[in-house]
Amino acid sequence: MSGNSARLNAIASIITTPIVESGFDFVSSPTSSVWGENVFSLDKMEQRLPKAIFKSLKKTIMSGQPLDITTADAVAEAIKTWAITKGVTHYAHVFYPLTGLTAEKHDSFFDPDGDGGTIATFAGKALIQGEPDGSSFPNGGIRQTFEARGYTIWDVTSPAYIIENPNGTTLCIPTAFVSWTGEALDKKTPVLRSMQALNSQTQRVLKFFGTDGPFVSATAGAEQEYFLVDNHFYYARPDLLACGRTLFGAPPPKGQEFDDHYFGAIPERVQAFMFEVERECFKLGIPAKTRHNEVAPGQFELAPVFEFANVATDHQQLVMTTLKKVATKYGMVCLLHEKPFAGVNGSGKHVNFSMGSSKAGNLFDPGDTPAENTQFIVFCAAMVSAVYKHAKLLRSVVASASNDHRLGANEAPPAILSVFLGAELNEIMESIVNGGQVTSRKAPLNLGVDVLPQIPKDSGDRNRTSPMAFTGNRFEFRAVGSNQSIAGPMVAMNTIMAEALDEAATMLEASDTSTPELLGKAVSDYVKKVWTQCSSVVFNGDGYSDEWQAEAARRGLPNLVTTPDAVGVIKEQRYTDLFAKYGVLSERELDSRYEVYAEQYVHAVNVESNLVVEMARTMVLPAAVRYQGELASSLANLKAIGIESDHTTILQVTDLIGSLQDSVAELVALKANENDAADVSAHCHFVKDLILPKMLEIRKAVDALEDIVADDLWPLPTYQEMLFIR
Ligand code: ADP
Ligand code: MG
Repeated sequence: MSGNSARLNAIASIITTPIVESGFDFVSSPTSSVWGENVFSLDKMEQRLPKAIFKSLKKTIMSGQPLDITTADAVAEAIKTWAITKGVTHYAHVFYPLTGLTAEKHDSFFDPDGDGGTIATFAGKALIQGEPDGSSFPNGGIRQTFEARGYTIWDVTSPAYIIENPNGTTLCIPTAFVSWTGEALDKKTPVLRSMQALNSQTQRVLKFFGTDGPFVSATAGAEQEYFLVDNHFYYARPDLLACGRTLFGAPPPKGQEFDDHYFGAIPERVQAFMFEVERECFKLGIPAKTRHNEVAPGQFELAPVFEFANVATDHQQLVMTTLKKVATKYGMVCLLHEKPFAGVNGSGKHVNFSMGSSKAGNLFDPGDTPAENTQFIVFCAAMVSAVYKHAKLLRSVVASASNDHRLGANEAPPAILSVFLGAELNEIMESIVNGGQVTSRKAPLNLGVDVLPQIPKDSGDRNRTSPMAFTGNRFEFRAVGSNQSIAGPMVAMNTIMAEALDEAATMLEASDTSTPELLGKAVSDYVKKVWTQCSSVVFNGDGYSDEWQAEAARRGLPNLVTTPDAVGVIKEQRYTDLFAKYGVLSERELDSRYEVYAEQYVHAVNVESNLVVEMARTMVLPAAVRYQGELASSLANLKAIGIESDHTTILQVTDLIGSLQDSVAELVALKANENDAADVSAHCHFVKDLILPKMLEIRKAVDALEDIVADDLWPLPTYQEMLFIR
């Protein structure tokens, strides 16, 4: 059997596989009718709980106070009763370890009743607290094995839900995961803490506008990009299987140059998949809203409607799980890696960020009255200040081995963190700085041009090149990778905004704000101060251009190109201070994150480099040598009958085989020295400076071979096949 058969069989079976039918009757049971079906939502709680208990629970949810055990018992009983009617037998505390994945510990509701039967029990304590032995989760040195116990604690603000499986259903309880000493071992805990910090500082500012009071929550809407490939191809590519990206692959004859995929008609099979994904999301109370093709062939996007940051973060994890799960049913694999295919667009996760409350509204919404606009201007200026001061932190929280392939690759924002405000907002800021005044409440605006009340809602950012863009009523953080949890970015945004608003509030509190005019003046002063210090971070031009790289350097903006440059930022003293000041992360918690993230970088590249060696040796070289053999015997046969034939191809193949063998040997030698790196930081740099370039060198030889080796000998599904056949 020659090496190609797996690949050709894959193509043959894809062509004959019919589209999977979902089995849903979308008429009698439209997707809208299943909304929230599997969620123990606030309204279900209200229906099923005694009034007093519901009130107490709601208070807890709104204020973030701990849940008392009587309430917990009643809630647990109600959840259990509801869940059992839906066939649930087990419950799971779901938590979010530092790997960025979702983890679960399952327990059965049923205990032996002592009389040979079983009884369903679910006490309040089991609802609000679990004890997974989480010693196998990376914790960056926070826990030794002797103190390995971690606790999971229900995040009451994120509702419990049911996950269906053909053989049973499980009640899932979103939890925070902490060590017995109370340190955060997960991604949720700091999100919750940072939301508290943001609320406290925001309230101080809102007081000046009479809009303080109800909890101000960060909101997030994450647009998820992903690729779909047929699973026959996926399983024939060890690199996709183990690393989520192709380590080899020559560019296809046709790429994305025609721009014919973006917003084009969605292929039938993908459409069927999307319908089911949305249905699943709806059942879980995830407001999936937008779907479309993306720029690259085989690339798509799903965007939900925004929610409170912690719920959006949990839901985002569920979206990723759902995409993967449903894809399998349709015979495809959903690739969430930031750069599965070299040379075609990568995938990001644009995180739309805003903040607001029932009383204050959306704080990044310009609003209709001068007073609303004055408030809006403070928050916009605070954002500019936050990004200016913490550009490095924002780069750090999106750093990963996979996202490095995407950032700055002319398809995603560069690693330079700038803010896009758009022409109008920029002009308003400038006019304030140049003496125009923001006046508040009933007084008319006095900006000379009086533009503020008419800030158009869609201030028109179709500039897709900015990592942090104002898009009319929110900021869009576009540097986040498609495979990342949005928790890190949320923690960073919340915390740096808390600090900026703290400064704003402190300045306003020290000023005379007794009349609307004086408040307007104080706000103008704040804007001036921010603009003078921080406006170099504002950039409204083309972020992909080379001129911007040069211009940003002139402005002194940091440009941390790769993860080894960026991952250590959280170790800087200023971040120990910042996160401690707002009660978000302690020094030990930051250290542990640094350890885990830096190690993850090294591990990721390690797995890839192992695979590069293995695939080169066991798949590519054998194919190349076979082809060389065929060419050699053909040349010999021709010569035997007196025909002297051209040797160009065999010489090329022989050359490439030689350089491939050499560079593989060099990579192996490098890897043998790898563990000599002094510490994890040195190890990261070693990997980046030596291993990754060598892997690329190998890839060059492999891709050149793919272009000349006989197609029927080539063992790996090609880009053409993976991107275009479905
Ligand atoms: P685009 O493709 O133009 O960026 P989409 O419609 O795909 O826009 O996505 C916009 C995202 O922004 C959605 O998830 C939407 O819910 C979210 N969004 C809108 N308003 C807010 C807000 N106030 N806070 C957070 N996210 C928001
Ligand atoms: Mg977007």
